[in-house]
Amino acid sequence: MERYWHWSDRLADQLLGLNKDTYVITAGITPSGPVHLGSVCEFLFPEAIYRALKLKNNKTVKMYFIVDVLDALDSVTVDLQDYSDIINQDMGKPLKLARDPKGEFRSYAERYVNELRYVMSKFKVHLELVEVSDMYDQGLFDKYTLIYLQNIDKVKEIIQNTSGRELPKDWNPVMPICSKCNRIDSTRVMSYDAITGDYEYICNNCGNTERTNIKEHRYKLQWRLHWPSWQAIMDSDIEGGGVDHFTKGGSRDTAVRIHTEILGRNPPIGYKYGFVLLDGKKYSKSKGVGMYVRDMIELIPAEIIAYHLLKYDLEENIDFNPTKEKILGMIEDFEDAAKIIPSDNLTRGDRKRYSAFRLFGRHPKVAFKEMLLYYSIYRDWNRVKIHIPIDEYYTEFIENWYKRGFVPDDYDFSYKPKKIDRFRDLVESWNPNMSPLDIHNSVYDYAQKNGVAANEIFKYLYNHLIAKDRGPRLGKLVYALGVERVKSDIL
Ligand SMILES: [Zn+2]
Repeated sequence: MERYWHWSDRLADQLLGLNKDTYVITAGITPSGPVHLGSVCEFLFPEAIYRALKLKNNKTVKMYFIVDVLDALDSVTVDLQDYSDIINQDMGKPLKLARDPKGEFRSYAERYVNELRYVMSKFKVHLELVEVSDMYDQGLFDKYTLIYLQNIDKVKEIIQNTSGRELPKDWNPVMPICSKCNRIDSTRVMSYDAITGDYEYICNNCGNTERTNIKEHRYKLQWRLHWPSWQAIMDSDIEGGGVDHFTKGGSRDTAVRIHTEILGRNPPIGYKYGFVLLDGKKYSKSKGVGMYVRDMIELIPAEIIAYHLLKYDLEENIDFNPTKEKILGMIEDFEDAAKIIPSDNLTRGDRKRYSAFRLFGRHPKVAFKEMLLYYSIYRDWNRVKIHIPIDEYYTEFIENWYKRGFVPDDYDFSYKPKKIDRFRDLVESWNPNMSPLDIHNSVYDYAQKNGVAANEIFKYLYNHLIAKDRGPRLGKLVYALGVERVKSDIL
């Protein structure tokens, strides 16, 4: 058996092995589109490490979420297709300098940074969101930029060697932002002074040439240097990334060598994680596959989404497909995990479920399904409360399911009793002392004794109670409606 039940335990122990007073966890994201489940992992996984660490040892932990608002705008996302004309005019500009095409925010970046803040607040994570442009503006990168310029041949060799790609002869660590057209993807440094930080660039888009200095902070470093630099600035102890960064030839390999050979420091601990898949396809911001998280969190409590993203092995691809038929099962899985008692006899899967719940769980006062059933019948929480205790936390989700047509078919009904002329003796045999299971079993007993298929009885009774061929478990339904009431309505 493995020593660790969950990857967050293993990484927390690795951090504690550094024996520091304060630990720093960093993570990063490019806010170029709506928040999808892949972006949730970018802040959820560091949060899991944070929580695992706090469960072991109450040391100070700082956690920064670096939002790369200087990344170039490079595609039109599905949710903004109608604004592609405006967006296309701003292609190649840093997200922070591109316009919000709807004119609702100060910039393109702000639209999605706002959404990110909102989603993160729902997940109650402890990461401090930092816009990378603020770090540049404060001059935090300047020192590193000079180091890279002074060691440009070595830096270039490291990038070529680790990426397996030949860089152009005039390659430069600095990516200037054109002062005329604001593009960052079409500029090229022509000359520089590695001591003063002066440099001259040309913009291939508008033809602008300019002499400036890195202290003007109108530039960004090449990604493979940008990443280790923010890790060094924050003094990061751990930062993960997707498989694309951690594959051979990926930017993690470069970062490790930049840290050790150029910056003379230890690289942060690295960890890589898999993709979130929807029916085997990668969730992607530009393609808009799957529900946006801003909509999903109105339908599924954030804790339950987190639980389902954390109950896997770290490098395993996560299949997450929240259809209205599947969500109820996902919620039940979460509620069952609340009941897992840790022991050495647990299966591997249950150890992970237990651990994920331990990090992001919330003990429900009553089962979601139970509340859904009673709400389907009464459509009024005050009336539901007469019959069962309710968990206030679930009420808005259930209401949203009804508002947005997200109720699974079995629960999408209203009570429409009709008099029966078959199976009367079965219904007559029911009494208010029977449990839902007693009622359910009575149908099977009756079926056996009378040589009728149980399915036929169920179908007939559903039709006379809710005017459908099927519904929630019959015993539960009759019990929730009230045996006396059902008997007087249909007999
Ligand atoms: Zn230009």
